[in-house]
Amino acid sequence: MINIAIDGPVGSGKSELAKLLSKRLGFYMLDTGALYRGIACYYRYKFNKPINKDTVDKLVKEIDVDIKFIDSVQHVFVCGIDFTPNLREEEISMLSSEISSFPEVRAKILDLQQNFAKEHNCILEGRDIGTVVLPNAEYKFYLTADEEIRAKRRYEQIKDKPNAPTYEKVLDDLRKRDFDNRHRKVAPLKPANDSIIIDNSNINLEQTLEKILTYIK
Ligand code: C5P
Repeated sequence: MINIAIDGPVGSGKSELAKLLSKRLGFYMLDTGALYRGIACYYRYKFNKPINKDTVDKLVKEIDVDIKFIDSVQHVFVCGIDFTPNLREEEISMLSSEISSFPEVRAKILDLQQNFAKEHNCILEGRDIGTVVLPNAEYKFYLTADEEIRAKRRYEQIKDKPNAPTYEKVLDDLRKRDFDNRHRKVAPLKPANDSIIIDNSNINLEQTLEKILTYIK
């Protein structure tokens, strides 16, 4: 199977790009952030209190996580509950970032991601795909862009939703998530040594796609 890893910080365009690339190549695409978001949804549903080691231990013991593609849309099930409609909530963005720093949580979904990659020609997008999940992926890309440009992109995606945060809040949350992702002890966000790094601050999605396609034989 051919595996493509795409990693990068919030708002670097990973998921939009992975979607375009999966259409162009006819590959599956797995959004691995959605798995952490699904676990965060279950945490809120079951525990609904600040995260600590004890509650995370309990959580990890009781959960099973599954993905299904329904009409080509990735759905995330935790203990049989489909949390897909809640995955993109702002509260879940922050909670998933916090919960993903626990090694037990990461270990819980490692096999799921690796087995998916064994069974499909696919693109996995996330934070640790090139470094931890698929260190032997055929292609590895690390997307990045200036912080304020990423915050603007994120703000544009959500500004018309009910209770949308201000641009300043989006920028603050993005900085916090980036910091936590880069400084956690396990699987921190960083490019793999053999990643191709693409800064797309000054190019659009289509140009980023074209650039990536020049590397794929
Ligand atoms: O990519 P997305 O923003 O949906 O990811 C949600 C959270 O899940 C991120 O803030 C990050 O902390 C975590 N994550 C991770 N490793 C991945 C994908 C996401 O730690 N491979």
